[in-house]
Amino acid sequence: KIRVRYAPSPTGHLHIGNARTALFNYLFARHNKGTFVIRIEDTDIKRNVTGGEQSQLENLKWLGIDWDEGPDVGGDFGPYRQSERQAIYQKYIQQLLDAGVAYESYKTEEELAQQREAQKARGVMPHYENEFAGMTDEERQATIEKAQAQGIKPVIRIKVPENKIFEWNDMVKGNVQFASDSIGGDWVIQKRDGMPTYNFAVVIDDHLMEISHVLRGDDHVANTPKQLMIYDYLGWQAPTFGHMTLIINSETGKKLSKRDETVLQFIEQYRQRGYLPEAMFNFITLLGWSPVGEDEIFNQKQFIKQFDPKRLSKSPAAFDQKKLEWVNNQYVKAADLSRITDMSIVSLLAAGKIASADLDTKTLEWLRSLVSLFKDQMSYTDQIVELSDIFFTDPVQLSEEAMAELEKDEAMATLTTFQDEIANLPRFTATQIMQAIQETRAKTGVKGRKLFMPVRIATTRSMHGPGIGEAIELLGYQKAQEHITQTLQ
Ligand code: GLU
Repeated sequence: KIRVRYAPSPTGHLHIGNARTALFNYLFARHNKGTFVIRIEDTDIKRNVTGGEQSQLENLKWLGIDWDEGPDVGGDFGPYRQSERQAIYQKYIQQLLDAGVAYESYKTEEELAQQREAQKARGVMPHYENEFAGMTDEERQATIEKAQAQGIKPVIRIKVPENKIFEWNDMVKGNVQFASDSIGGDWVIQKRDGMPTYNFAVVIDDHLMEISHVLRGDDHVANTPKQLMIYDYLGWQAPTFGHMTLIINSETGKKLSKRDETVLQFIEQYRQRGYLPEAMFNFITLLGWSPVGEDEIFNQKQFIKQFDPKRLSKSPAAFDQKKLEWVNNQYVKAADLSRITDMSIVSLLAAGKIASADLDTKTLEWLRSLVSLFKDQMSYTDQIVELSDIFFTDPVQLSEEAMAELEKDEAMATLTTFQDEIANLPRFTATQIMQAIQETRAKTGVKGRKLFMPVRIATTRSMHGPGIGEAIELLGYQKAQEHITQTLQ
């Protein structure tokens, strides 16, 4: 039975890289009709942020991911927050202490830092040296009593076996091996505050929650041998591991890090800008996984149907902003106009371009037409604010290029004629406006670009844009006239 989990630490908003981990686990579970579990790894109390868990879950839901077991929905393997599983971890820590493979360690942080410095000075990789090495039982007892008298709280360390190779068959990387002496010495399974460490708790939980496959980020590869040690000591069978490759920023070629400010990295940021969740789902799925064939646009059902972890990429996934915009634009184009209008209204409200008090039926209809003009150009709805600027702000400064167009011979005469023509229109609609342009052509003899460009620039203040008839109609008669008059002055 396939059981997989996504195990976020509630240290902040949902990052693109973590979203990808969640998504691949989700697809893997759904493809195999297995179970998808959410477990909150909140034992590093200093790093937890208030609202972190809720924000993670909300953003997963926004992306269209659901789960079968978790802190909010419960399940047979709970509790699903590590902070609520203390008694469970204690039981196994005691078992390892009793078996003599774990022990209390009293070295202070300062002593450990000194040890590392001394090792570096000797040209040795910093590692923990067993503080009781070579001691008799009495010496050991005396050392412990002395530390206790000083009020030093111990950590609990696990003994790393000597000369052992830890290896596993990784779903992505194939055979991976780590020698025990690369682990860095006996490591901490319980911190001074009594909390288990990640590498310990994760094993207990994955085992007790009967997790069959652990699909996670490449940054955890070096943790896996530590985890395998615990499985061995407890006589448990380890799950199948798969470590997904790094995500790199295709612009800089560097690993995508939370400090990189050249790209948005948190799902929340995309959500706030008016990206479509299913488009983000699609884009993220292509980060390090590829479907068969050339197509890249798939809905969730199709992804579930064809998700095969064998197609997880072995080389780093490139986070390409242009591709992200492209994928998102495909979805905006295909989406219902009503949906994009509603989202665009939120964007325009947030930008202060419209006020909710103005939203009467007529304005809503006007906004719908406005959005339909720009919909095909958008990747996310906040873009409407800039694209439609001319409809809200009077009059925008012209570019030098546009000014030069207006200085051409017939430009002014053309505009004067066009102004008269629209003044005589029975109705101010796109079709009628196009007819006014044709009339202007008949009267002035000016045609083609020389005709259209001055009209476009004078009315919309831009050399580019959507259909000129539609744009002028939306601008409305009053504004169109004002803009032309200002241009003629
Ligand atoms: N809490 C860990 C993290 O956020 C999970 C690692 C794992 O999947 O084992 O990176």
